[in-house]
Amino acid sequence: MIIILFGPPGAGKGTQASALCEAYGVPQVATGDIFRAHLKNNTPLGQLARSFMNNGQLVPDEVVWKLVESRLSEPDCAGGVLLDGFPRTVVQAELMLSWVKESGLALSQVLALVVPDEELVERLAGRRTCLDCQASYHVQYNPPTVEGVCDRCGSHRVVQREDDSEETVRKRIATYHRETAPVLDFFKARGLATEVDGLGEIGDVAARLRQALQG
Ligand code: ADP
Ligand code: AMP
Repeated sequence: MIIILFGPPGAGKGTQASALCEAYGVPQVATGDIFRAHLKNNTPLGQLARSFMNNGQLVPDEVVWKLVESRLSEPDCAGGVLLDGFPRTVVQAELMLSWVKESGLALSQVLALVVPDEELVERLAGRRTCLDCQASYHVQYNPPTVEGVCDRCGSHRVVQREDDSEETVRKRIATYHRETAPVLDFFKARGLATEVDGLGEIGDVAARLRQALQG
């Protein structure tokens, strides 16, 4: 089963991903998390990705696809996967669909979280991210139990992401509308996408996502 969790930056994809992965027994593949791991380890890929990420731009399709294709061919993805933050362009979506056809796996659903821009800005401005396990928090809406300490892995490195400054957030949202929103139309035209209201309590959004997947 392949689930695509789709939506603009700050829609709640990372927040919702772990419960869905647990419920459906599939690993989470988040391209942003993979790039951040490369940044942390200062690899050549990390150095290349950094300039795009910190300018609110997308990493080029061929770089992203090479990374995703190799991750999808790892043994833990053989039974399916939840994709978070991929595909982000129509070219990526086309590559993905060809891969799905060849793999013999089924694309179950594209779940598209719908959240208005001003709410995204507020969420991203208050987001704090664990540098060690990538868990996502919000200073007001979803703080860790102990300030600055990650509930999931115990790390004390819960910080604001470099690309969560207001200026970069605005650029990322503009990039979403220009390059990524057409991906939703691409999937809708193929009858593969379900839009899910991403506003409200985190638990309520989780319930809507589960319902959309069951439907
Ligand atoms: P994405 O992975 O889509 O970029 P995140 O899951 O990291 O987004 O969520 C962005 C921010 O919004 C985080 O600070 C998170 O804690 C917060 N958040 C997520 N879901 C909700 C919600 N339903 N209501 C309020 N804040 C939320
Ligand atoms: P995210 O963690 O999903 O918000 O992604 C952070 C940044 O990584 C994005 O703003 C992009 O610069 C880059 N990125 C993540 N996924 C992709 C993708 N599928 N295509 C292109 N760039 C990506």
